[in-house]
Amino acid sequence: MKATVFHEHGPVDVLKYEDSPDPEVKEGQVLIDVKAVALNHLDLFVRGGIPGLTLDMPHILGSDISGMIKEIGSKVPSNLQPGQRVVIDPGMSCGVCDYCVRGEESLCAQYGIVGEHSRGGYADLFAVEAQNVIPVPEHVELSFEQLAATPLTFMTAWRMLMPKAKAKPGDDVLIIGIGGGVALAALQIAKVAGARVIVTSSSDEKLEKAQDLGATMGINHKKNPDYHKEVWNLTNKRGVDIVVDSVGEATWERSLRSLTKGGRLVTCGATSGPKAMTNVSLVFWKQLEILGSTMASRSELRDVLKLVWNSRLTPVVDTVFPLSKAKEAHTRLAKGEQFGKIVLTP
Ligand SMILES: [Zn+2]
Repeated sequence: MKATVFHEHGPVDVLKYEDSPDPEVKEGQVLIDVKAVALNHLDLFVRGGIPGLTLDMPHILGSDISGMIKEIGSKVPSNLQPGQRVVIDPGMSCGVCDYCVRGEESLCAQYGIVGEHSRGGYADLFAVEAQNVIPVPEHVELSFEQLAATPLTFMTAWRMLMPKAKAKPGDDVLIIGIGGGVALAALQIAKVAGARVIVTSSSDEKLEKAQDLGATMGINHKKNPDYHKEVWNLTNKRGVDIVVDSVGEATWERSLRSLTKGGRLVTCGATSGPKAMTNVSLVFWKQLEILGSTMASRSELRDVLKLVWNSRLTPVVDTVFPLSKAKEAHTRLAKGEQFGKIVLTP
């Protein structure tokens, strides 16, 4: 098969489109004919090298995969059959620890992500455990590119806003840095939950597009660096109930200042750096909650997929590149120019 791989960690040039051996289909596994694979920031981090993460080289990236079942390994349940259209749950867990048994797979000590801890979908073919394979209902009219743009971002945003921050009708939600996949999924989920959404971006164009998707207000944080003051004005000096902040260091303090009393800041990442300053007085006096979230459980992914299958939530695709142009796709993601997911097609 053809695959885009890297033999060593490094800048975008380490990505090579080349012949690679077909994956072996082991017991309990399913072979997927990959139709599309979406990029995540994780891909850039894994390509560059993550301390403590040792990979079998050459490594194949790609966590968000859609395709057709090509072949079934032994001992795979009969609800999975060749020819089915599927998406892949990118979470991998042991299945037997206390966390897994209570359905909290993303807390499992063995938790891993397809494409990070194992070979992923930047390839013609991809083999995965049957439990990660989710058939797409026949009535769903999404393209393979849209399907690939769905699992990781929607599961992440769902766990942040619903099980963690408990968004509800009437809440005001502030989303920092609209344009990435998780932020756009969070915007749509907050709307479905009945919340009013304020978004920030350095681009007026992205703010306008976000308003088309249901954001009530947009703040350009480049032109208006004290955006927490603007949030204050927009909410009648109350502050927002929930902030979704995956930027970290650069925005953390202003995100905390944007919250109303009893508000919740929820984070799933720190793209600007992890060592943010927290004014503890603000936290106890305003009785704020700081909530961490990573990926989601298998059942939470199923919950959010139901809304995607019923067109209540729609994955947003920014651009589609052929798999051989993964370098160009990584460069676009690194620049942060995208509005929605960048997708590769083998
Ligand atoms: Zn486990």
